[in-house]
Amino acid sequence: MDFRLSPEIESLRRRVAEFVEEHVLPVERDPKAYDAHEFIGEAYLGKLREKARAAGLWAFHMPKERGGQGLGPVGMAAVYEEAARSIFGPAAFNCAAPDDGNMFLLNKILPEAQKDRWLQPIIDGGLRSSFVMTEPHPGSGSDPAGTMLTRAERKGDRWIVNGRKWFITGAEGAQHFILVARTSDDPRRGLTAFLYHADQPGWRIVRRIPIMGPEEHGGHCELLFEGLEIPDENRLLEIGDGLKVTQIRLGTARLTHCMRWLGMAKRAMEIAAAYVAEREAFGAKLADKEGVQWLMGEAAMDIHTGRLLTMHAAWKLEQGEFARKEVSMAKVAVADTLHKAVDTALQLCGARGYSKDTLLEWMYRYARSARLVDGASEVHKTVLSKALMKEGSEFWKWG
Ligand SMILES: Cc1cc2nc3c(=O)[nH]c(=O)nc-3n(C[C@H](O)[C@H](O)[C@H](O)COP(=O)(O)OP(=O)(O)OC[C@H]3O[C@@H](n4cnc5c(N)ncnc54)[C@H](O)[C@@H]3O)c2cc1C
Repeated sequence: MDFRLSPEIESLRRRVAEFVEEHVLPVERDPKAYDAHEFIGEAYLGKLREKARAAGLWAFHMPKERGGQGLGPVGMAAVYEEAARSIFGPAAFNCAAPDDGNMFLLNKILPEAQKDRWLQPIIDGGLRSSFVMTEPHPGSGSDPAGTMLTRAERKGDRWIVNGRKWFITGAEGAQHFILVARTSDDPRRGLTAFLYHADQPGWRIVRRIPIMGPEEHGGHCELLFEGLEIPDENRLLEIGDGLKVTQIRLGTARLTHCMRWLGMAKRAMEIAAAYVAEREAFGAKLADKEGVQWLMGEAAMDIHTGRLLTMHAAWKLEQGEFARKEVSMAKVAVADTLHKAVDTALQLCGARGYSKDTLLEWMYRYARSARLVDGASEVHKTVLSKALMKEGSEFWKWG
C-alpha cells in the first residue's frame, strides 16, 4: 500500500497551491470582488480564469486533448482539495459544482460527435450548465425513482416535457441543462435523461430560491416546464436509463464535493491556528491551552479521516468500480467534518469568528448544505445499512 502521490500529481498539486496563494487569495481578500450573492463577481472570475488557463491549471478531470489535465479520481482528490483552500478556487480552475459533475458525465456517456456541441463549451468556460432533477413536494427528492412527477411524453422524434423542478444550482444564466424526467411508470426504468439548451422555448425560471448560505453563480432556482420540446437525439443513453445517468453523475460528483469540502475544512483550521497562535488569555497563548489543543487535534484527526475515506473511494473509482458504499461513507463523514471543523474554528476565533472579518461565518452557512446536497446523510446511511445486511463482514474486505 503506497500513500504517496505520483510525481506528476504532486507537481500539479504544488502548482495549484502556489496559484491559489499568489492569485486567488488576494481576490478573496478584496471586498469589492464579491457579487450580491456573496460569491466572486463575474469580472474578477474572468480574469482569474484567464490566468489559471494560461498556467495550464484548468478543468483537471477533462481529457488533455479537450483542454483539461486528464486527471483520474486520485489526482482529482489531491488537486481539488488544494484548489478549495480558497472559496473562489474551484470556480477559478473550472472544477466547481455543478459544472465539474456535468462535464464528467457528458465526457463519459456522450458520443464523440456530440461532445463538441454540449461538452466543449463547458470545458472552455464559455458557458455554465445545470443538473435538473429535484422537485418540490410531492415530487422527486430523496427517492427520484418513486416520486418523480415531471413527465417527458414521446411524440414522433421529439419529447414534450411538463412539470416543475427546484433547487437547480446555477440555473440562472446556465445554457446547457441535463434534465431527468419520467418517461414511464416502470419502477426501475421509469426515468430518462435529456439535454436541452436554455434558448429552447417551453420552460422558464419561476424564481431564484433565497437560501441560508452564499450562492454560486446562477443561484438555486425553481423551474417550470410547459411543453419544452427535446429532440430524441438529445436523449442521454437509452430510454429508462435516467437513474443510471444520475448514478454515473452523482457517484463522482459526491466525491468531488468531499475533495473541495476537505480543502475548505483545512482552510478553516488554518484561520483558527493563526488566531490561537497569537491570542493570549490568562497568561498564555490560546494554542498552549489543553482545551484548545483537544479541539485542534480532534479537527485535524477528523480531516485526516475524511481524506482517507475520500482517497480510498477515489482509488476504487480509478479501478473502475462504482465504489457506491465508499462514496456514501465519504459523503456522510466529510459533510460532518466540514461542519464541525468550521464550527470549531469559529469557536476558537471567539467573537471575531462570528464576524464577517474572517471567512468562517461564510463557510459556516455554506457548510450546512453539505448534509443535504447530493443525497441527505440519512439516505446514504440507508445505502450503507443495506450493503452491510447483504455483504455481512465482506462489507469491510480489502481490495
Ligand atoms: C444548496 C443545494 C443545492 C442543490 N442543487 C441541486 C441541483 O443542482 N439539482 C438537483 O436536482 N437538486 C439539487 N438539490 C436538491 C438536493 O439534491 C435534495 O435536497 C436532496 O436530494 C434531498 O431531497 P429533498 O430536499 O427533497 O429532501 P426529502 O426527500 O424531502 O427529505 C427530507 C429529509 O428526510 C430525511 N429522509 C429522506 N429519506 C430518508 C430515508 N430513506 N431514511 C431516513 N431519512 C430520510 C432526510 O433527513 C432528508 O433531509 C440541491 C439542494 C441544496 C440544498
